[in-house]
Amino acid sequence: MRISPSDRLFVLTGAGVSAESGLPTFRGAGGIWRGYRATEVATPEAFHADPLMVWQFYSMRRRKHQEVKPNPAHFALAELERQLGERFFLCTQNVDSLHEQAGSQRVLHMHGRLMMTRCSREACPSKPFEDSAAYETELPKCATCGALLRPHVCWFGEVPYELDRIFAELNRSTILMTVGSSGVVEPAASFVRLARRNGARTIYVGPEAPANHDCFDEVVLAKAGEALPGMVKDWVAA
Ligand code: NAD
Repeated sequence: MRISPSDRLFVLTGAGVSAESGLPTFRGAGGIWRGYRATEVATPEAFHADPLMVWQFYSMRRRKHQEVKPNPAHFALAELERQLGERFFLCTQNVDSLHEQAGSQRVLHMHGRLMMTRCSREACPSKPFEDSAAYETELPKCATCGALLRPHVCWFGEVPYELDRIFAELNRSTILMTVGSSGVVEPAASFVRLARRNGARTIYVGPEAPANHDCFDEVVLAKAGEALPGMVKDWVAA
């Protein structure tokens, strides 16, 4: 694939882009969080039934996040952003901050951020805030209204953030690249269909073919950290 000066690139990353940094994926090989089945703890129902268990899951992920670093795939995408400027758009399903740590400037986290917390009461006027604390024995409460605080992440069954902006970017992109996403979590899994309908070229990078592989013009079966640096180098050189 070549990127011409008139192209606009939309990149969607999933858990796979952070796998080589040591953050486990939900699906694919090894995709279970130490006995927690993600689809059972990352839901509003789970939080309602057992908020401490859910906070323990996210506290474990916060602790793990502090031990990891971006890998060559994150750095390659940051380099691509430096080269393409505003013709590059990065949307991640990941809640980690590894894209930012690698130097990406404008990252849209459609599923929220692991290191942010917010009030669980929708009507509360307080805003999400940066928070790396682990809550394992006592539940945190909102300083404004007293309701329980929750991780600022989009759980299964909730609506992802900033969809209007995402669809606007998708509609004007001419290339869509997905990296490390199993292609089963909606609405992200359908971005490639929309891009294709608009005539965009589509490419997937990851070691296993995703569920929506037939929507991609090109599927590069490789680990992101191994494939992306070379791909980006070639694109930049061309
Ligand atoms: P997923 O767990 O459903 O699928 C991960 C995909 O990554 C699989 O298709 C797998 O083949 C691929 N993969 C594994 N190693 C890879 C590598 N080295 N390079 C490239 N690809 C690799 O992930 P998803 O599709 O992103 O959806 C799951 C949901 O869980 C998303 O909302 C995601 O944000 C969230 N999640 C986030 C993190 C994180 O923030 N790091 C971690 C786990 C899950």
